Amino acid sequence: MGMLTEFLWSMMIFLLAVRIMGVVVRLLTNRAKTQEKIPNQKTMEKEEKAASIEIVQDIVCGNDVPKHKAYQVIRDNEIHYFCSWNCRQKFIAEDRKDL
Ligand SMILES: [Zn+2]
Repeated sequence: MGMLTEFLWSMMIFLLAVRIMGVVVRLLTNRAKTQEKIPNQKTMEKEEKAASIEIVQDIVCGNDVPKHKAYQVIRDNEIHYFCSWNCRQKFIAEDRKDL
């Protein structure tokens, strides 16, 4: 008699534990799903990209240019950036005058 109630109790505790684990797993997966749906994530990525834009100075006309849009000339292992093709050509022309 005593053994049977002990067995029933352990079965009930086991079933309860399984049910609790099921609830915990469901809560965790729900949380993961809601995190995926956060609408701010895309705007945050955009802000990060905007912050990573490097501004360089055109040494011919003095304009500030975003690095990824700038024209480049490499001289003496140094990269020079220009706002336009014209500025780049001017720089190269002056470079040739020096020679
Ligand atoms: Zn320029």
